[in-house]
Parts: sequence; structure tokens; C-alpha cells
Amino acid sequence: KPIVAVVGRPNVGKSTLVNRILGRREAVVQDTPGVTRDRVSYDANWNGREFILVDTGGWASDATGMALQIAEQAELAISTADAVLFVVDATVGTLDEDEAVVRVLRRSKKPVVLAANKVDDQRHEAMAATMWNLGLGEPYAVSAMHGRGSGDLLDALLDALPEAPREREVEEAGPRRVAIVGKPNVGKSSLLNKLAAQQRVVVSDISGTTVDPVDEIVEVGGQVYRLIDTAGIRRRVKEASGHEYYASLRTQTAIERAEVCIMVIDASEPVTDQDLRILSSIEDAGRALVIAFNKWDLTDEERRRYLDREIERDLVAFRWAPTVNISALTGRNVDKISKAIETAAAGWETRISTGKLNAFLGRLAAAHPHPLRGGKQPRILFGTQASACPPTFALFTSGQFDDTYKRFIERRLREDFGFEGSPVHVEIRPRA
Ligand code: GDP
Repeated sequence: KPIVAVVGRPNVGKSTLVNRILGRREAVVQDTPGVTRDRVSYDANWNGREFILVDTGGWASDATGMALQIAEQAELAISTADAVLFVVDATVGTLDEDEAVVRVLRRSKKPVVLAANKVDDQRHEAMAATMWNLGLGEPYAVSAMHGRGSGDLLDALLDALPEAPREREVEEAGPRRVAIVGKPNVGKSSLLNKLAAQQRVVVSDISGTTVDPVDEIVEVGGQVYRLIDTAGIRRRVKEASGHEYYASLRTQTAIERAEVCIMVIDASEPVTDQDLRILSSIEDAGRALVIAFNKWDLTDEERRRYLDREIERDLVAFRWAPTVNISALTGRNVDKISKAIETAAAGWETRISTGKLNAFLGRLAAAHPHPLRGGKQPRILFGTQASACPPTFALFTSGQFDDTYKRFIERRLREDFGFEGSPVHVEIRPRA
């Protein structure tokens, strides 16, 4: 899904606008800077087109009170976005801080849609029109508070977005996009350095690579990959300074941009909730997954026994992901990562013919029919693979299906067809 970053100086109404676009009160509107917010990105939808909205409204300062400069904040958000929604306040006009963001926007060359907010009535429209002089094209006069003008704004935004191909078109897409993700200090930059050190690839030799400045092309085990957002991994000073929004935004946008995620987990320490949350984001985003247990050199036999138990207990839900036990420090097994990536990517791209799928569903239903619901027998009428990347199946049924049965189908699909390293989605579409 394409990513839209909402940027602008504080108090122009970014979060209110995000709420307006989402059509619900999900993003917290905050007037007090420094309040930690869990989420910075949201799934949005306009006229059936899906995109991700990143709200930078909560970034004013972090827990330690160290404020990132507005322009710098904007730069971070813009570097990971496909398009930018730049919000200015039509009731006060443009300030120096706005100009700073404009300069960043110009340099980025990303598509920009300009929203002149707080145009609650006709009187402010003239002010909105003066925003033409920012040189960012038409200013869309909106009132995030009252909803005025937001339809036109969204139309313009969708026009600005690049077409997102749902399925990978190998010829055009260039090297496979891989993200290294994980909580701080698990060894992401160490792994990146190890991978980059082995690199002998000349970027311009590879067709279809207009490399984003935040990405790097590396060769691992004979395969060429585009590592997503390596700039974010290398710029870890900020992460270490406790800028949580920054870290969580980078992780989420890297996952969105990637086809395959390498989830780095510190094998020498207990698996944490934060590890599980990132894993869930990868599954929810429908990305292929490889789990790299790093710092293997620090594990002894006892720790490994514990780790096995943790995997059984906490990571069962991700049992489908290939794992590699690595040491980014010594280089142990680092070259095995490419095989795991290829396995996961293959699972992710798998397509099952409609014939095979329905033969499978027929056998399944005969052996294990759905339990009766309200005296009726819910049946699968027909199934089809709606899409690959990740494999998504639409099952047309007579009546609703229980979640447990749905999960049972998912499990059986895996047993029969594999899909190693990929989430599998099953959608039940009851016929009326
Ligand atoms: P990041 O925050 O995930 O990018 O983690 P870093 O790559 O900066 O690593 C955090 C710390 O763990 C550093 O001190 C690394 O030297 C160390 N480290 C990373 N990988 C390994 C490993 O495989 N073995 C050992 N012993 N230390 C590691």
C-alpha cells in the first residue's frame, strides 16, 4: 500500500485532518507536545483505494524532552513516504517553519498535496488562495474540523499516489525488497554491515534500480536484494535517544515497503512483547517473513534449551516462518539468510489453480465438515485464490463460518501447499 505522510508545523491541525480522513476518532488529537502515542500510521481508504496515512502530529518531542527540529521530522517522514500531505494553517498564513518544510519537500521531489486548513467559512478562502505562492501547486481549502473540502483533497491525494501493483512483476520490479527489522540492540546494524561488507554489486548494473537514497543494494549468497531503509538502521543515534515515534514509524514503513522481512531477535535474551508486536505487524501487513536469531555466539546450551521453550510458547503463531541462527558478529550462518529469504518469497508468491484448490476444499469438507450452526450445515460452495503476495483465498459459502474452522482451513492449506514463510489469508464470503 502506498504511504502518505502528513506533515506540517505543530497546531495546523494534522491529527484532526487524519481523523477526518479516517472517518473515525482514532488518532489522538493532542495539544500537549510530548505525550507518547502508540500509533503513528493508520490504514486509510478513499473510493476503494487503500493507503497508509502516517501522522507526524505526535512527534513534537520525545520522552526526554528533546525536540526534533520540524524540518528534520518532516524529512524523516517524507523519506519513507510515497506522497506527502502538507498542512498549513489558512488563518495565520505561512510562517518560517512552513518555509523550512517547503524546502525539504522541494528537495525530496515527492508528490505533494497542499492542504490549507481551518477554512471554516468563506472568509478564509482568500487566505487559502495566497498559499499558491508556496509553489506547491493548488492549495486545497479544507476544514478538518467540519469536513469541508476534504473530498476534493482526497481525490487530489489519490491522483498523486503511484499505482501500487498488488502482485510482483519480476521484470519491472528490480531486486527483491527486503527489510531488516527488530527492536533496538538486537543487531540490525551489525547484520546490515556484515551483509554490506560482502557486497560487490555495482548498483547501476542492475536493471530497474533507481535506488531510493535510504536503501542499499546488497548481494547475499549470490542473490541481489534491495535492503529497505538502511539509512534508518544506520542513523541509530536518534533511536537510541528514545525517539519512539521515529523507531516505530521506521519499522512500520519499512515493513510496508518490503516484500520480505528479516525479523532479528536477540537469541541470548528472552523473547519480549516488543518482538511479538513487530512480528504481528509483519503478518498483518501480509509480508513474507524470515526470523533470524542473532547473537548465537552468546548462547550456551542452557539458553538454547530455554529459547526452544520460548519458541514453543510464544512464537507458535509464526511457526510458518523459516528461521536462521546467526551471529552478525562472527558472520556465522549469515550467508544462509539468502536461502531463507528465497524460501519465504517463494511461499509468498505461490499460486494454486482453482481446480486444485477446489479439489482440496472438497476433500477437506468431506472429511471434516463445518459443525452445524443453528441446525444448518455451512458449506463451501466454491473457492478461488484471490491474490498472491501473500496467498489470499476467497471462499464462497452458504452461511457464516466459525473462526476456528477458518483457522483450521488455513492450517490444512499450509499442510497441503506449503506457503513456508508467508502469511496465508482466508476470506469467507457468505452467499445471501
Ligand atoms: P541494532 O540496534 O539492532 O542495530 O543493534 P546493533 O547492531 O547496534 O547491535 C547492538 C549491540 O549488539 C552492539 O554492541 C553489537 O556489537 C552487538 N551485537 C550485534 N550482533 C551480535 C552478535 O551476533 N553477537 C554478539 N556477541 N554481539 C552482537
